[in-house]
Amino acid sequence: MYKIAQVDAAKCSATNCRLCTLYCPEPNTLLYDEKRKTTFVAIDRCKGCGACVRICTDIAKRSCIKMVPVGDVQNGFEMSKYGFPNKE
Ligand code: SF4
Ligand code: SF4
Repeated sequence: MYKIAQVDAAKCSATNCRLCTLYCPEPNTLLYDEKRKTTFVAIDRCKGCGACVRICTDIAKRSCIKMVPVGDVQNGFEMSKYGFPNKE
């Protein structure tokens, strides 16, 4: 099945690094939510290249991003429809 990136928001928000957002090759895909202080993925734009996983794991040493089957992405509908994560 096609896989896309999913960010562990609780883990990511413990820092203010944003590093992965500089390397995603797709525009407006790996974004930063100023309110929640976390990166998030616009699932309708992610091409599943995995670059962000390597950046977070190997360079940032945080391991906040994993690739998951597109059907298993939490809050996928809202993210796909609006391009932003669900409100808390
Ligand atoms: S590299 Fe990791 S810790 Fe840094 S913003 Fe991206 S997901 Fe968050
Ligand atoms: S898997 Fe690739 S396209 Fe998707 S968010 Fe990560 S870097 Fe961007």
